[in-house]
Amino acid sequence: MTEAQAREDLCRFGASLFARGYSVGSAGNICVRLADGYLMTPTNSSLGSLDPGRLSKLAPDWSHTSGDKPSKEVFLHRAVLTARPTAGAVVHLHSTHATAIACLAQPGEWAPIPPLTPYFVMRVGRGLPVVPYWRPGDAGMEPAVHAAALGAKALLLANHGPVVSGATLADAVYAAEELEEAARLALLLRDLPARSLTSAQVDDLLSTFG
Ligand SMILES: [Zn+2]
Repeated sequence: MTEAQAREDLCRFGASLFARGYSVGSAGNICVRLADGYLMTPTNSSLGSLDPGRLSKLAPDWSHTSGDKPSKEVFLHRAVLTARPTAGAVVHLHSTHATAIACLAQPGEWAPIPPLTPYFVMRVGRGLPVVPYWRPGDAGMEPAVHAAALGAKALLLANHGPVVSGATLADAVYAAEELEEAARLALLLRDLPARSLTSAQVDDLLSTFG
């Protein structure tokens, strides 16, 4: 994929997520790994109105090289993409239901959403670590995010929102969407005797899609 295509895709997926309420205002940010660095959503930008020509371009050492100034949450993306060399993109949202789970779950918890559907398991996997609360923009959370990302494709920032990686930008977006739906189901079923997939069923899915 060329950088021009990556710029178009990032803006198109951002607009789609914004239009469906996965982010509001200037919340949420996206990063895509390129052959020669990274593309990042600019600080104070809305996912609904990104301009391909103004996206932040970062060098392989994460220094800002061109475009608008990057999001102040750039270290979240650096933490995940450094921990997961095969990941090509990271999506961070404040989507409502995943954020609700991030407020209910205990920091340090490993799987705050049960494996209710195969799609959640296929896209997100078995683990969804909950990183303790840090003030937004506090780079002190980077080591904790990095440690959590070593063992999971996606994680929740306590009282803040989800951070989701994927092999491609499309994969990361689809996983973030699946996570939001799984969180909504988990909340809908919270006080009901819902049937989760068994450990063997999860293993079977992960043997193919993990
Ligand atoms: Zn955030």
